Amino acid sequence: MIVCNDLSSIQYFSHTQKKEFKSIALVPTMGALHNGHLSLIETAKKYCESVVVSIFVNPAQFGPTEDFDTYPRTLNADLETCKSLHVDAVFCPTTSMIYPHSTPTTTVFVNHLSTLYCGKTRPHFFEGVTNVVSRLFNIIQPNVAVFGEKDFQQLAIIKQLVTDLHMPISVVGSPIIRNQNGLALSSRNAYLTKQEHDQASSIYSALLSGKKQFQSNLILQKKNLIQCILNNLDSAISVDYLVVVDATTLEEVDTLKPGQFVLFAGYLNKTRLIDNISI
Ligand code: AMP
Repeated sequence: MIVCNDLSSIQYFSHTQKKEFKSIALVPTMGALHNGHLSLIETAKKYCESVVVSIFVNPAQFGPTEDFDTYPRTLNADLETCKSLHVDAVFCPTTSMIYPHSTPTTTVFVNHLSTLYCGKTRPHFFEGVTNVVSRLFNIIQPNVAVFGEKDFQQLAIIKQLVTDLHMPISVVGSPIIRNQNGLALSSRNAYLTKQEHDQASSIYSALLSGKKQFQSNLILQKKNLIQCILNNLDSAISVDYLVVVDATTLEEVDTLKPGQFVLFAGYLNKTRLIDNISI
């Protein structure tokens, strides 16, 4: 495995892979790798001969009052993990490599989709994501890019970005990885106390109980599905949004149908948690 700390070394790596007719799968991350990231790497291996993991805590996707400074950074352990998974290259850029100007002179923004749900509460967030991902795509030029279905809206936005800008990249979604209590793994779970872990696990059990009731025809209407989920959520969790959406357009639906998704975001004290489930 090679570790690339500058643009020219990762570009040289990509160039040599392509010369050897090896396809490249990119797994973009902010580090603090957990089993969710590991499953993305395993997915990437199924698609391409060569796997690149990027590790970059992207300041552009954090708001001024958010946790950029305290976000967990575990680079040495992350590199060991990548090595043990036989990742081919890890790209660890600095902020000035990705954004040479303190205010970017070119920005990439996916209209509309970026303004829904997480985009309402975190107006800077998806613009930060599309700015960094488009730059990583241009630097590394992967054939495939793997993103987690945990960040369902983000995955839809990246698919839109690649389509709109005619990027020759297949965007692949990889399933949500959870702990034994159902809590979706997240680098931010490191902020949670033991009690908060238990409270946060109610998110998945609440989503699951709604899904089961819908699938057993005990719930037919959207408002009842939402109420059922709210009733099963731990009272310590404050809901940011809880919506039922079409899986492709991400527009809210009026009538429940199998294959739609319930998207959740909320806070447990200061920690933001997101999750989703198909019904
Ligand atoms: P992050 O490092 O949090 O920016 O996440 C990097 C990638 O890992 C994103 O595509 C996330 O959707 C994905 N990811 C994070 N947590 C999980 C999880 N529990 N299961 C699957 N993918 C995940």
